[in-house]
Amino acid sequence: MSTLFIDGRWVSATAGGTRQVVNPFDQSVIRTVDEAAATDAEAAVRAARAAFDDGEWRGWTARRRSLLLRRVAELLQRDRAEIARLETLDTGKTLVESGIDVDEVTSVFEYYATQAESDPGRLVDAGNPAVRSRVLYEPIGVCALIAPWNYPLLQIAWKVAPALAAGNTMVLKPSETTPLTTIKLVELLDEAGAPAGVANLVLGAGDPVGSTLTESPQVDMVSFTGGLATGSAIMASAARTVKKVALELGGKNPNIVFADADFEAAIDYALIAVFFHAGQVCSAGTRLVVEDALHDEFVAELTQRVERIKLGNGLDADTESGPLVSAEHREKVESYVSIAVDEGARLLTGGRRPDNPKLARGFFYLPTVFDDCHGGMRVVQEETFGPIMTVERFSEIEDAVRIGNDTTYGLAAAVWTGEARKAEYVARALRHGTVWINDFGPYLPQAEWGGYKRSGVGRELGHAGLAEYQEAKHIYENTAPEPQRWFAR
Ligand code: NAD
Repeated sequence: MSTLFIDGRWVSATAGGTRQVVNPFDQSVIRTVDEAAATDAEAAVRAARAAFDDGEWRGWTARRRSLLLRRVAELLQRDRAEIARLETLDTGKTLVESGIDVDEVTSVFEYYATQAESDPGRLVDAGNPAVRSRVLYEPIGVCALIAPWNYPLLQIAWKVAPALAAGNTMVLKPSETTPLTTIKLVELLDEAGAPAGVANLVLGAGDPVGSTLTESPQVDMVSFTGGLATGSAIMASAARTVKKVALELGGKNPNIVFADADFEAAIDYALIAVFFHAGQVCSAGTRLVVEDALHDEFVAELTQRVERIKLGNGLDADTESGPLVSAEHREKVESYVSIAVDEGARLLTGGRRPDNPKLARGFFYLPTVFDDCHGGMRVVQEETFGPIMTVERFSEIEDAVRIGNDTTYGLAAAVWTGEARKAEYVARALRHGTVWINDFGPYLPQAEWGGYKRSGVGRELGHAGLAEYQEAKHIYENTAPEPQRWFAR
């Protein structure tokens, strides 16, 4: 089957390009998909442009768009098992994690179905009874939606649902490493009744496929999730045609544990924070920042538990963590381990590939913990995007805040303490887009997600996540116009 979707039809790449999608557990080929060229991306943009400017989609009411989103939510649940399996094959994450992703994506479609219907704009008081002043929210136009490989379905869905709710048309560009669930999502959008040209799909490398989208004068907005360097290049590229950009970039997220925290819960979540999906999570709490008085006991217990994490095939029920996504990515993670050792960090566990011969064909790496870390180290400042925890310590509350803010990123942070006032003080002092108190990781479709500083521009989810895909139009209506006699009196 052809895997590019342009103007309501599944088509092959015009130049005949293909790419093999590989299972990171054993390097088997899961599927061969089309590899688009710039001309395919241009065709997708033309289809999206025509559907926005002249298609039946322009006439769809908010209610109808809402019903479309609800239908997609139903179809996601109907095919939940198939989608979860695809995501696990493609990314290596466990089947339980993939199932949770499908459920959360469903909630996001449901949330924006409701938002689509309940967004009537607003009346503004012009201070003049003869004037009716209204602000309407309209779609921006053609959106390029570019996603990473770590949460392929979830990250693209955070863009597709609000972009559709607002009435835009779009071109989806998943990561070339993990396109399978995005292909499936586009099948479901088609089945749900999205008109031809509204949601187009191109697959392939960032350059030329993604860059063709960001450079095109026919594209009005780029919403991108991915790495800092790519995000920065996209912003520069979009500047040439003054496109709107929304960027969700990386994070280097502190997990701050005070001595009065609930020990059992804090340990458990410290593991989840880093080793969930092998650390390939933008909001991973890879910087453990622990109070001096607790440090020795906490780190000793944590290290023991890290050594018991079961690596394996994401499809097996007892696997707790899968492989890294690719050979290339594992090499990057390994290079950070060498850097950390050279910088003087103390390796407590991990720091190498596993010996288990059953894992030999997968891109596995042992969960790794470094103690004696500080903010001057690259392993503490740069996103390793792997199963590497660094441990820093503090004695005063102000030190905890200073360490927590000692990063150019600002995506997420957590604070663990039994004292509510202390938790609130630290939560407010931290310069991060999400702060968890006595928890790590949850997000809600109805609450904004995004980064301070270099973690990004704009927000996804929540009301602001819809506003990213809207233009505000002010209509000022004078119901009793009278001559002003300003000129030519
Ligand atoms: P990446 O930046 O390498 O690639 C992301 C996407 O951009 C891919 O689809 C890629 O093909 C495309 N791309 C690459 N070069 C491009 C170009 N010049 N023009 C247009 N598109 C281009 O990121 P990745 O390695 O796939 O994902 C990991 C990164 O994503 C991490 O840094 C992680 O923190 C970040 N991330 C952030 C969030 C968040 O919510 N803030 C969520 C998930 C992942």
